[in-house]
Amino acid sequence: MNILKVLFTTVVVCPECRTKSAKKYFSKISCLNHRCSKFDQQYYLENQAAPRKHGEETVYKKFDGSFEPEKVVVIRYRNYQGDDREFRADANSLQMKKNHVSVCVAPTGERLTLSRDYIQNITEVERLLPNK
Ligand SMILES: [Zn+2]
Repeated sequence: MNILKVLFTTVVVCPECRTKSAKKYFSKISCLNHRCSKFDQQYYLENQAAPRKHGEETVYKKFDGSFEPEKVVVIRYRNYQGDDREFRADANSLQMKKNHVSVCVAPTGERLTLSRDYIQNITEVERLLPNK
């Protein structure tokens, strides 16, 4: 780790998309929002790889209705009856399983398995998948 880089790096709110925890290194902004023009793949991956503190605590709290995704992705889903639903999901929990996407959703933290064929914004969701 480059010590100078650490010293000169500050955490800011992205001036472009207002995402918190963007990183500023001199005049360069690195944003975690993949839709933002300041999106920085490297920083995003570093952030993903960072060990989570209090991981166990989070697991126990998950199902009490106060689950708040660390990195929100809104999944627009139309079920087989044609009903539209929107799930606020945690992008960090995304997993691809054959023709399904498995993800934890707010407010319960419950893991849902959604058929990709019914996800209206599948392109956006797929971009957030690991190993993709
Ligand atoms: Zn941004």
